[in-house]
Amino acid sequence: MNLISVDDLTNEMYLELFGLTEMFIEVSTRPIPKVPTLRGKTLATVFFENSTRTRLSFETAAKRLSADSLSFSASTSSLSKGESLFDTINTLDAIGVDFLVVRHSRAGTASMVANWTQAAVINAGDGCGEHPTQSLIDCATLVRRFAKPDLESLDRSKTINKYLSGLKIAIVGDVLHSRVARSNIKAFTNLGAKVTLVGPPTLIPDNIESWPVDVCYDLDQVISEMDVIYLLRMQNERFDESMVPSTLEYSKNWGLDMARLKRLGPDGVIMHPGPINRGVELTSEVADSTQSLILDQVRHSVPVRMAILAMLANLIGGGHE
Ligand code: ASP
Repeated sequence: MNLISVDDLTNEMYLELFGLTEMFIEVSTRPIPKVPTLRGKTLATVFFENSTRTRLSFETAAKRLSADSLSFSASTSSLSKGESLFDTINTLDAIGVDFLVVRHSRAGTASMVANWTQAAVINAGDGCGEHPTQSLIDCATLVRRFAKPDLESLDRSKTINKYLSGLKIAIVGDVLHSRVARSNIKAFTNLGAKVTLVGPPTLIPDNIESWPVDVCYDLDQVISEMDVIYLLRMQNERFDESMVPSTLEYSKNWGLDMARLKRLGPDGVIMHPGPINRGVELTSEVADSTQSLILDQVRHSVPVRMAILAMLANLIGGGHE
């Protein structure tokens, strides 16, 4: 089994992942935070785009599950000598890897790689496509904070769409180029939340009539109704001309400062997949405030990615215990 898109997940899988995440959070508190689940397995991170959190947390997750990990970086590899992506993947396959964690600037790359390899492929971000593991981290973070049903006691498959029921989430900023937004819209909605997209018209996709979202171009109009403000970074690397008049103009209209945070109310929370640009999508005061879940998202990244690897290993019949 591969994890290319949030669409690959069944309701049972979300629940299994939330359960495993709790278990691995407990493992992380032990003096030796390691379990033998993936002993004898090898994971390769294959990144053609920069990353801090995703690569580090996948490699940490692999180590804590006792897997071996290899790290492939496009800039220091034979790609710079003209080797193709296909041959690079064949080479990794021949070395013998069980998991390929792939990041690439082109949407669809992880899915293409999955056709070339025996390994389980995990999409760690494909251009403007999807970022399913970030989305699972965000869902786990929200479920831990807001989940309505008791994780243990309810009929699990039937209640998944009630986990975040009634929760109002605004995804703010560069939705057009955001793979995180594409995955999160589907996942948050699946868990019962109501999603509103907010941003300059130039950064909201045209064809969203079929998406299960509301749209508003004015943050001040909706902020007081929201429970969660999920901020997105401007993906400057994905477009040539500026899609907003200026960064100053953007932060004035769509950036989160203390005045807007006050209007969100004391129970509202802020999320961001990182990397954050202080002074653009949010001020430093907001980023470091007690209402910010940004570091919780990072804290959850290792146990959630451990949960994903353990679940996939089990599904492909290879995990220990
Ligand atoms: N880290 C996220 C991603 O890889 C978000 C971002 O880069 O803005 O898509």
